Amino acid sequence: MINFKDIEIKDLCFTPFILRDELLGRIQEIAIRINDEYKDKNPLFICVLNGSFMFASDLMKQIDLQSEIKFISLSSYDGVKSTGKIKENFGFGKWVSDRHIIILEDIIDTGNTMNYLLKNIQQWDPASVEVATLFLKNECLDYDLDLKYIGFEIPNKFIVGYGLDYDGIGRNYQDVYQLK
Ligand code: 5GP
Ligand code: MG
Repeated sequence: MINFKDIEIKDLCFTPFILRDELLGRIQEIAIRINDEYKDKNPLFICVLNGSFMFASDLMKQIDLQSEIKFISLSSYDGVKSTGKIKENFGFGKWVSDRHIIILEDIIDTGNTMNYLLKNIQQWDPASVEVATLFLKNECLDYDLDLKYIGFEIPNKFIVGYGLDYDGIGRNYQDVYQLK
């Protein structure tokens, strides 16, 4: 069901921003590129939990390669602000070695998390590493990152839904909402 109504989460009000059909259309375009560019490479997708679970799920359904997916978990956000410090709950391992890696991220804001991941993964000797991020807040980026697959470049406003949360709430919505 399409919801054009604002939603309230805790003390904040959010308004519809990108609806499910547009999300799925863009994800399909990314999948088509990956299907073409990773033929015979047996890529290993790494989903960065928690926020990327819906993106990873819808993207993987459109991948028609022999491929695998694994999950890692990090946290750096507190409420609506990045803390700059990254806590690794479970991370990379030697399973990364010699594999063609595609990191699936929900959103890149300052780039601090992705910068940390891209540096950190190198110690496990992957064959190659690329990034697919559903959202990029271009104006906030503090690092020079090589991002191969970008879903949507968005303004510097906090968003929720489609896996993304505000203080743990709101991941369940199928559309993306922007802070009012
Ligand atoms: P960065 O390290 O690039 O500053 O932030 C990356 C992480 O912060 C993302 O993986 C995500 O968990 C969180 N984040 C950044 N911007 C937003 C946003 O607008 N909404 C939500 N819900 N999380 C965000
Ligand atoms: Mg994330």
